[in-house]
Amino acid sequence: MHYHPKSDLLNNRIILITGAGDGIGREAALTYARFGAQVILLGRTESKLANVQQEIAARNLRPAFIYTLDLLTASQQDCQRVADQIGQWVPHLDGVLHNAGLLTDITPMADIQLQDWMNVMQVNVNATFMLTQALLSLMLKSASSSLVFTTSSVGREGRSGWGAYAVSKFATEGMMQVLAEEHKHTGLRVNCINPGGTRTSMRASAFPDENKDKLKTPADIMPLYLYLMGDDSRRKTGISFDAQPGRKAGPAE
Ligand code: NDP
Repeated sequence: MHYHPKSDLLNNRIILITGAGDGIGREAALTYARFGAQVILLGRTESKLANVQQEIAARNLRPAFIYTLDLLTASQQDCQRVADQIGQWVPHLDGVLHNAGLLTDITPMADIQLQDWMNVMQVNVNATFMLTQALLSLMLKSASSSLVFTTSSVGREGRSGWGAYAVSKFATEGMMQVLAEEHKHTGLRVNCINPGGTRTSMRASAFPDENKDKLKTPADIMPLYLYLMGDDSRRKTGISFDAQPGRKAGPAE
């Protein structure tokens, strides 16, 4: 995407990012902070979140909050506690990027372990839903808020071996569409991003033999992540966007 936002695109915006300690989420958090946002970093590994928080402080950007939560075991009460704590830190939320995700072994449906299936659904679907439900009132307090889910090309067209992960991303697309429709007359817009093959540890676990140099980095795909959090996307809702339009799914050669 060719998008060149102004350096103050996200001034005065407050944005929560899940899975903010590593990979795409880490890059999104740093990028949003660089464009003026106050960020709230949520993830399961406190030391990684603290690292991002320190990097933001070292650049003299608006101080970031951190909240440690393992989405694999998170309950509805835990998600409500997240919202309650955030409500004490800030008056509203202008953006939520649901980025945390779990991918298990690539294996045929017939061989998927039930626990793996449950874990993927818990992190990618149930926790995402519970957090969204808990955070909605904070988002609706903003005059213009943006809820962004993270999908995948296997969440639009099933692919052999991608089992629970693919099904969870289809569910994510559905969650986005339902919420977008329900909120089309409010200030809340709801969309999905498909990052496309991106150089992270999740990608390396799925395609250990591919040529990593041919993959885009998290920094390369940030224009779409910025576009959806800023005012330029104000009227866009119910859309599943590609951060790398035209990229063919599958391993980089
Ligand atoms: P990474 O594995 O690099 O990062 C995922 C982040 O999510 C990490 O910070 C991780 O925490 C966090 N996370 C994972 N499980 C939990 C949990 N149970 N509770 C809280 N946080 C958790 O993945 P990517 O950056 O590659 O992926 C980001 C998103 O993009 C995912 O939703 C993924 O499905 C999607 N995606 C990625 C693609 C790619 O090619 N990279 C392609 C298509 C979609 P920790 O650091 O502690 O492990």
